Amino acid sequence: MPQAPHIVRTIPALLRARSDLRKRSATVGLVPTMGALHDGHLSLVRLAKKRADKVAVSVFVNPTQFAAHEDLGSYPRTWKADLAKLTAEGVDLIWNPDAKVMYPEGFATRIAPEGPAVAGLEDRFRPHFFGGVATVVAKLFSQVRPDVALFGEKDFQQLKVVTRMARDLDLGVRVIGAPIIRERDGLAMSSRNVYLSPTERRQAPVLFATLKATAKRVRDGAPLQSALKDGAVAITRAGFTLDYLEARHGETLEPVTSRGEGPVRLLVAARIGTTRLIDNIKV
Ligand code: AMP
Repeated sequence: MPQAPHIVRTIPALLRARSDLRKRSATVGLVPTMGALHDGHLSLVRLAKKRADKVAVSVFVNPTQFAAHEDLGSYPRTWKADLAKLTAEGVDLIWNPDAKVMYPEGFATRIAPEGPAVAGLEDRFRPHFFGGVATVVAKLFSQVRPDVALFGEKDFQQLKVVTRMARDLDLGVRVIGAPIIRERDGLAMSSRNVYLSPTERRQAPVLFATLKATAKRVRDGAPLQSALKDGAVAITRAGFTLDYLEARHGETLEPVTSRGEGPVRLLVAARIGTTRLIDNIKV
């Protein structure tokens, strides 16, 4: 049995734990999460173990990245199961502050990311989101001072935003992206998948199936815009309300009009019932 992780919930306890971790110049990898852990999160933990001597996981449902109408109150919280999973993975440290520790009375600073954060994808539908993410991730980086931090490609625009911010602010953290982990039927794992009704869950794999088919058509020479148009129709027919299905440059997130402008990424966001799902694929 691996040793139980050290759980800390206050800044002074975190700072003590951080210097313990760093003994004998050990390197530290951080995996930021909002809990409700699944195999996608655990894949990041496993990667962190390969890239650093010690692994810290933060479990914090960050209120500043939710808009008032979003699901902060109902976001799944599964602490006991999360702890069991992180213990089984042999994680060294769990940073689990509450909102008052993260944002004490009088807190008045917010990071305003630009570049990939204003690419016109998630930011069009969740204008508050990347400011909240950048602020909490900057805090997590300065609290834990990791050498590397692992983020999933599942949240592709977020990965670009955090990578840019770490560079722009000289935070001394290497941000590493990790591939999307999927259910057997292709649905990208997400803490929010528990919101899906049985009928919605049966429809949900259409999102990835369409991404895959669209990417293949483009690789086979179909014009990008017509492949995307057909993809949008397929997603809508399956009962989704489409927020976007777009082709973007895989590094800059700039719009692209042909495969030749690549590397090309297809990104999608769509709602089924009250659940919003996102996914993406390399062409
Ligand atoms: P969250 O708890 O949703 O904020 O996600 C924490 C981290 O896990 C983020 O870097 C996500 O991109 C990553 N992640 C979430 N789902 C997946 C997945 N299916 N595969 C890989 N990484 C994921």
